[in-house]
Amino acid sequence: MEFSSKLLENAVYEMSQLPGIGKRTALRLVLHLLRQPETQTQHLVNALGTLRKEIKFCKVCHSISDMDTCEICSNPVRNRKIICVVEDIRDVMAIESTGQYRGLYHVLGGKISPLDGVGPQELHINSLIEKAKSDNVEELIFALSATMEGDTTNFFIYKQLEGVDIKTSTIARGIGVNDELEYADEVTLGRSILNRIPFVNALRNG
Ligand SMILES: [Zn+2]
Repeated sequence: MEFSSKLLENAVYEMSQLPGIGKRTALRLVLHLLRQPETQTQHLVNALGTLRKEIKFCKVCHSISDMDTCEICSNPVRNRKIICVVEDIRDVMAIESTGQYRGLYHVLGGKISPLDGVGPQELHINSLIEKAKSDNVEELIFALSATMEGDTTNFFIYKQLEGVDIKTSTIARGIGVNDELEYADEVTLGRSILNRIPFVNALRNG
């Protein structure tokens, strides 16, 4: 792509660093911004800048939060005896939108994936095990996507919990293999949580 403006080229380059945005789309977006009032671009820049500066991670569940403890963890009405284990905040949002779950979450920050260089140490697994051992937690619900990485991660955590008096379950897989949680419709996902099955059963079937 030949640019007659270095400024335009720089902006397009930065935009094209985002996932799913090729050079052509980046150019279209940048030209769109240029056609809009300058304040519009300023709002975008401010929102992203403030996000990066002020965003926090909940010290309890590791989810993205505006405060040290997120709204879910600090809500006294939530059931503290059940923890739903998810990959990232998108899963929390998807499950919250079902309105079917009143427990807490634990955000791992990814899945074990040796090919991508992600081992257990890169994830928030230790704090989950500590929580499962020390707190008044009665049940862990595995709600990772039904991929090989998801299964590996579930199994790793399950093995770490050997000898710990805690119930482990997994969401019922009405959700197809390789479907990410965030794409499951709310009704299906809500039902999967309500109809969760003991984790050992899922192992036997797998
Ligand atoms: Zn939290």
